Amino acid sequence: MNYQPSDKSIRNMLVIFGDQLSMEATAFNELDKKLDAVLMMEVDHEATYIPQHKIRLVLFFSAMRHFRDALVKKGYRVLYTELEDQENTHSFAGEIERFVHSCQPHQVLVTEPGDYRVLSTLRNSLKALSVPLNVLPDDHFMCSQEEFKEFAQGQGSLLLERFYRSMRRRYGVLMQGDEPEGGQWNYDKDNRESFGKEGSLNVPRVKTFEPDPITREVIHLVEKRYADNPGHLDFFDYPVTRQHALEALEDFIANRLPDFGRYQDAMVTGHPYLYHSRLACVLNLHLLDPREVIDAAVSSYYSGKAPLNSVEGFVRQILGWREYVRGVYWLKMPDYEHQNALNAQLEMPVFMWTAETDMRCLQTCLQQLVDHAYAHHIQRLMVLGLFSILLGVNPWKVHEWHMSMYADAVDWVSVPNVLGMSQYADGGFLATKPYAASGNYIQKMSNYCRDCCYNPKQASGEKACPITTLYWDFLDRHREVIRVNHRMKFQYSNLMRKSDEEMSAIRQQAESLRKRFT
Ligand code: FAD
Ligand code: SF4
Repeated sequence: MNYQPSDKSIRNMLVIFGDQLSMEATAFNELDKKLDAVLMMEVDHEATYIPQHKIRLVLFFSAMRHFRDALVKKGYRVLYTELEDQENTHSFAGEIERFVHSCQPHQVLVTEPGDYRVLSTLRNSLKALSVPLNVLPDDHFMCSQEEFKEFAQGQGSLLLERFYRSMRRRYGVLMQGDEPEGGQWNYDKDNRESFGKEGSLNVPRVKTFEPDPITREVIHLVEKRYADNPGHLDFFDYPVTRQHALEALEDFIANRLPDFGRYQDAMVTGHPYLYHSRLACVLNLHLLDPREVIDAAVSSYYSGKAPLNSVEGFVRQILGWREYVRGVYWLKMPDYEHQNALNAQLEMPVFMWTAETDMRCLQTCLQQLVDHAYAHHIQRLMVLGLFSILLGVNPWKVHEWHMSMYADAVDWVSVPNVLGMSQYADGGFLATKPYAASGNYIQKMSNYCRDCCYNPKQASGEKACPITTLYWDFLDRHREVIRVNHRMKFQYSNLMRKSDEEMSAIRQQAESLRKRFT
């Protein structure tokens, strides 16, 4: 069903994008239900400019349709283009022009979008149409763009820790006066357990959501319209409404938060989510507010249900990292996307879309992506991102692949995490050193190597682990840029111990891997 206003008398037209699905947004304070209208658009261009995972498409379109219906129920006038509408021009610019012509709004309102490209499109389109655009601050976030700019002023490289502590103090989260709860700001040392080679069988399963008629209709549409896009829809079970999002939060807090900290970095075959929350998608669609997520976690600690190392570790992700990367994105865009400090130029290997590889670590994480459009942080950083940086894939291509494969990917969060944290494309602005490791790390933190045809300890020869080969080759190739980094001293002192013969075999093997993969 498509909702259209019956007349042309629109005063304000509020554009709501698919990642802005909050009724609490301050933009709604500007709306008069009689005089104003909301515009929401499903367009082909956003699904195909980078071919999107089918799960990601269903998540966005279904959540948008549910939100549209909730708005209509509340009495808002909603202009909504569905993908199959005859007049749909299939781009944001085209749809905005079409609705500006038909409704002639006095001005267009929008909450700061999560994508620089989308904001530029909106600005350019409305300028060309001579309609004023009012961009409102996004108060979903706990640190505004201006506040972050103030924090960053005069700092050469930004430290998450400083930012995080300032946010804890500002919001009084896990604080006793001016001191951190428990006397420490950070419990990372308690948060590095793995399950060992055998893995664990007792991890509580994540709460799943059966597709309702709206979601089923969208699944059908996506299957038909985007048949060749990556991934499949056999297991679609994501939350798509505010009610679902609250239930997903409750499930995480009750069942997985207590062990979140302890196993934060662990990886186990057959357990894609482990003790992680799977809340990034609903947070990024704004179906959940970060404040309520933090409050729920902190209450769990004060009521004795979850230990401090888990709660602090989780709070740091939301109040620290999530706000921090968003700040970095708006501080550094648009120049940030062109960074490539290691001059990496290769294409993404084709198996990164299909999971067809004999490397067990990659195969497991990629199959999870194909099946669920999800991998947890350490899989992203220390398997998939690690492989890409070691191989030498162009960082922007890694970001594009990321945007296409993850349900929770939105530009503001993917760009800094992929280019900055994972691929070191900004030369150390966001991460103080490249996340580079050999197969030994993966062996320590997962049970993947147990069933792999390669040996993580071997860097050359038939059974050599490609991650280990590429790791030594990476350190060797980037000596000039990376060796000066004092945090890499230990790694370089190990590299120096390798004989010329060993290094020559590694270089040769790495070269043949690059040829094989790209
Ligand atoms: P949990 O492990 O349960 O963590 C709780 C929450 O903390 C997450 O839901 C998320 O909202 C927040 N969070 C944790 N780490 C980060 C971070 N580094 N940046 C921002 N928020 C964080 N997160 C996304 O939401 N979208 C992305 O596109 C994205 N791309 C990433 C790419 C790479 C290469 C890396 C290393 C990380 C990326 N992250 C991204 C951050 C993080 O990995 C995911 O938020 C998390 O894995 C999502 O799963 P979860 O909800 O189960 O998270
Ligand atoms: Fe991955 Fe190497 Fe372990 Fe195989 S041996 S799972 S390729 S780290």
